Amino acid sequence: MTSFIIHGIGVSNGIAIGKAHLISNALLEVAQYDINSKNIPAEIKRFDEAIASVKTELNKIRTQLPSDAPGELDAFINTHIMILSDKSLSILPRSIIENERCNAEWAIKKQMDSIVNQFEQIEDKYLRERKQDVIQVVERVIKVLLGHSNKIAVQNKEKLTILVAHDISPADALHFKKHKYAAFITDGGGVTSHTAILSRSLNIPSIVGLQNARSLIRDNDLIIVDGMQGVVIVNPSSQVQKQYKKLQDFWNNEQDKLQDIKSKKSITQDGNLISLFANIEVPNDIDAVNASGATGIGLFRTEFLFMNRQDMPDEEEQFQAYKKVAEAMGKKPVIIRTLDSGADKQTALDNKKISPNPALGLRAIRLCLSEPKVFMTQLRAILRASQFGNIKILFPMLSSISELRQTKLILERAKASLRKDKIRFNEKIIIGGMIEIPAAAISADIFAQELDFLSIGTNDLIQYALAIDRTDETVSHLYNPLHPAVLKLIALTIKSAQKYHKSIAICGEMAGEPKLTKLLIGMGIEQLSMHPSHILSVKKQVLNSSMKNMKSLVHKLLNLNEVDKIETLLKKINQIN
Ligand code: PEP
Ligand code: MG
Repeated sequence: MTSFIIHGIGVSNGIAIGKAHLISNALLEVAQYDINSKNIPAEIKRFDEAIASVKTELNKIRTQLPSDAPGELDAFINTHIMILSDKSLSILPRSIIENERCNAEWAIKKQMDSIVNQFEQIEDKYLRERKQDVIQVVERVIKVLLGHSNKIAVQNKEKLTILVAHDISPADALHFKKHKYAAFITDGGGVTSHTAILSRSLNIPSIVGLQNARSLIRDNDLIIVDGMQGVVIVNPSSQVQKQYKKLQDFWNNEQDKLQDIKSKKSITQDGNLISLFANIEVPNDIDAVNASGATGIGLFRTEFLFMNRQDMPDEEEQFQAYKKVAEAMGKKPVIIRTLDSGADKQTALDNKKISPNPALGLRAIRLCLSEPKVFMTQLRAILRASQFGNIKILFPMLSSISELRQTKLILERAKASLRKDKIRFNEKIIIGGMIEIPAAAISADIFAQELDFLSIGTNDLIQYALAIDRTDETVSHLYNPLHPAVLKLIALTIKSAQKYHKSIAICGEMAGEPKLTKLLIGMGIEQLSMHPSHILSVKKQVLNSSMKNMKSLVHKLLNLNEVDKIETLLKKINQIN
């Protein structure tokens, strides 16, 4: 059997070796045939029944979600229900059946192609990817029309089955939980696709964006999935299998061993506490936070409460969400970031105007300041919840001090309105700002004077400092956290926070990368906030480092101006304690 390699985007780490199980792609099997005019009403009825059946099916999945299902799942399934209910899918194909006298499968496929075509014209990558949701919904309808089951067939119950699909819908992902697939790989999806988001919470190796995997791999082919490298090896030789088996054992052992340090305090060898906090998107993520050993929440991305819906969550709904998280965390800090809507994180607020360059447009704090009612509602909800735990507020995307002052003014108004309504809240609530725009890093001194803490959002800081769209895979090779300019901006921010004795954190993806932990400690970072699944591997690095030893080497590293030299010295830093 020929052995070959396919490259994609690794979105969840680990190595899996197993037999391929291909999920059939109903769309490939659609044929067009003529319907006799007297049979048109019956064909329309068949179409209507298929739509109703899928609606019932999705609603059933939604009500039967297991309690440990990833929080995003409910919202995703709801989106699919909304797409299905839209008249472009549930009504318009009827006229195609009627006018073209064609079968229902062909009519809905034709309608889908036209919707997908419209999505493809959208410049925004996140929105463009949403066409996959439409395809997944239509696939369900076609499967019903063709009399196929929408359940993923479990070919064998071995743990070593690897799912190979064109794309996977969030509803289908539920089966992964029950059947414990070893990994999954898909042709579609990018780093910001729903598939990628879900795979991280399922914690199995996965690769998306393989483009042709489904047509190149056959059922029962032996495959190796290397989630770290984003590589799939099909029909590997026995020698390659042995090598990967060793790598896999090593990886699994390391993961098991990490559990031993779960209850250990995150302290460097010379006694410095480095707080390891978790990033969350929805209140249900709390379970993963508690399982990870995180000692707080360093970033609650509240915009996820606003997504996949046409309305805004009202004060009460938001209050309940924030309160739930605050109560679950007890005395541990919960840093709630105010709405960071815009660019790749679209909410109903972003529908008002198409921005020519959304990453540089009316987003995050700018959007909130232009929508004071929405902002006030959120601030009142956060303040109300502050009674129930250790809540702090974090403002995203600050770029100038006047923006911060305006923001603080609205916060004071929210406080005053609560006082007027005789609603209690923490009068001394702590406020911080995200440093994620180069201008803010350069002026960090003034932000440090007017805020209680700073948190560096390296995802956006790198994007804006290097002019690289963080969601665009064509320039992802240039997206480098070790670029000397990025490190200088981080160092500048840390220095400003230290000068004014303010706490300084990192909450972008750099915080969860163990290879960067010693560097960040050496730079003076006291708090790292990351996806819960990264906490233990970062803690291992903290326990193996001494701040004193790191400092002089890191000082040397910050004076280097070439990435190669920085990488070489970083390797050395990572080898010592
Ligand atoms: C960041 O930009 O680093 C950050 C943490 O915020 P987000 O990823 O939500 O933009
Ligand atoms: Mg950001």
